[in-house]
Amino acid sequence: MNPIVIGVEAKNFPSNRIAITLFPFILIRKDRMKDKCLRKHEEYHWNEIWKWGKYTLGLGILVWYILYALLLIWPKYRRNNEPWFHPMESEAYKIEWRCQEERSR
Ligand SMILES: [Zn+2]
Repeated sequence: MNPIVIGVEAKNFPSNRIAITLFPFILIRKDRMKDKCLRKHEEYHWNEIWKWGKYTLGLGILVWYILYALLLIWPKYRRNNEPWFHPMESEAYKIEWRCQEERSR
């Protein structure tokens, strides 16, 4: 199974967002559709959600989103107010930044 990637007009995205994974979809702001590193970030989430759901009759997908929402109160994330401090975002950002670094070489 592969993600279904959909481009969304910027005006339809909440102002500070450029992409979101709503399994089985990945929604990306239209002007950022060609951003390979952003896609890698979202694909990391997508693959994790897919894995969680695979052996749990899809229940893991719901659990992933519930856990994600619960971890929004993670102290380090709350304190710093940067998305990469969310425990389920740190790896996704590492992948995105590594990709950007390689791209800029
Ligand atoms: Zn993310």
